[in-house]
Amino acid sequence: MTNKVRVRFAPSPTGPLHIGGVRTALYNYLFAKQNNGDFILRIEDTDQNRFVEGAEKYIIDALNWCGIPFDEGPGKELGHGPYRQSERKLLYKKYADQLITSGKAYYAFDSAESLDSHRKDHESRGKTFIYNWHNRLKLDNSLSLKPEELQTRLANEENFVVRFYTPQDEVLHLTDVIRGDIRIDTNILDDKVLFKSDGMPTYHLANIVDDHLMEISHVIRGEEWLPSLALHTQLYDAFGWQAPKFAHLPLIMKPEGKGKLSKRDGEKGGFPIFPLSWGDSTGYKEAGYFPEAVVNFLALLGWNPGTEQEIFKLDELIKAFDLSRVHKSGARFDPEKTKWYNHHYLQEQDDIVLLNSFKPILAEKLNNEPAFDLNLGNNDNYIASVISLIKERASFVHEFWELSQYFFQTPNTYNEKAVKKQWKDSTPSILNKLIPLLEASQDFSSPVVEEVVKNWIGQKGLSFGQVMAPLRLVIVGDLKGPHLFDIMAMVGQDESIKRIRLALSKL
Ligand code: GLU
Repeated sequence: MTNKVRVRFAPSPTGPLHIGGVRTALYNYLFAKQNNGDFILRIEDTDQNRFVEGAEKYIIDALNWCGIPFDEGPGKELGHGPYRQSERKLLYKKYADQLITSGKAYYAFDSAESLDSHRKDHESRGKTFIYNWHNRLKLDNSLSLKPEELQTRLANEENFVVRFYTPQDEVLHLTDVIRGDIRIDTNILDDKVLFKSDGMPTYHLANIVDDHLMEISHVIRGEEWLPSLALHTQLYDAFGWQAPKFAHLPLIMKPEGKGKLSKRDGEKGGFPIFPLSWGDSTGYKEAGYFPEAVVNFLALLGWNPGTEQEIFKLDELIKAFDLSRVHKSGARFDPEKTKWYNHHYLQEQDDIVLLNSFKPILAEKLNNEPAFDLNLGNNDNYIASVISLIKERASFVHEFWELSQYFFQTPNTYNEKAVKKQWKDSTPSILNKLIPLLEASQDFSSPVVEEVVKNWIGQKGLSFGQVMAPLRLVIVGDLKGPHLFDIMAMVGQDESIKRIRLALSKL
């Protein structure tokens, strides 16, 4: 085996990738890149009953969207392929045979019905049926059959499975990079099926054989596979192969903290669970998340750098990530934090990216109700300036319209609460007097208008609140928004004055 770091992400194509699966892929990717290693995608599709059309493409698209593409895998054959287990089908039998020859595995002929009745019988006595040392000689397998009988049954091509022969009274020493040393008493383990009657290997056999043949140095996978570690370690020993290092990642937990994050939690809490949309479920991409944000929040779900730093770009993650700092306990998913990350990456986005994402939304809105100046919807400079004024308040591009409508359309309603509070008896006469002042201004840039209005407030002995709040209300329709004089300069002199007149006629 070479010393090169080679890791793999090995999903089963049984549906879309859960966000936890994306995190597993990400940690593999980071570990590979920081060690100048290879990141491999292997499709574990031995269970044809659970195969879902389109799932493999989905997985590949999702990794690409996140910016964590694989180096080797389906379509990128680099000497260790094929990378779909269904295409490797013929290769596994010889390894099952090898274990039988060396006495590490055996044939078992027990029918599904007989196993089921054992299970039910145990259940009725409050016990669990385990196929292992304590009963294997009483069951229907090559250990309990006479040699001639075994030969006959094999010659008759009776259905069989191959089971691993778990030794009795041994203590296994397992090692996990994250969890340290683990000891397991072999007496509690069952003789797992390695090869099925349909001629296909089970997950366990195919996974070990492939990891070996693909020269995988580190197996980084979800905690749900920790119970398989005992068998996998024994399989490496049984074949006489050097085992890779193992790292089992903590679960991602529900926002409330207890239990594994599920699709239902996403539906309940209104947040995505999948990277890309799948069926009726909206993905992170379609919900308006930037891949940088998804990668960043996923990286910190179960790992921390040991400092206060929370913002990491992919290249920074590659440097900082440390497998041995991955937590043992579950990582609570916080949907608010994902928005916080998106807000951050939105601020960092190139103006042109934001402009191009916002323009189609804007076009649709203006199609319903045209802008006060018909050219605005096509004026990239204007739209870009609007974005730069409001983006600080947004976490998503789809929030831009709500935050910027008044830059494009004349408000025709006014926030009622604000009107009650700010529209005093004296307001109409103050605003009326402001109109000629604004009309007289030769220069309508933000600092000039600001100076003109503020000087006038001073001269008249008015308070800022008496003027600024109602003025904002008539320009914006509400008391929100960026610096008022920036808004007025943007919509322009005529439109600003028109808005004051309109409000005076309406309020
Ligand atoms: N096929 C397994 C899965 O779906 C792979 C587990 C592993 O990485 O060993 O997650």
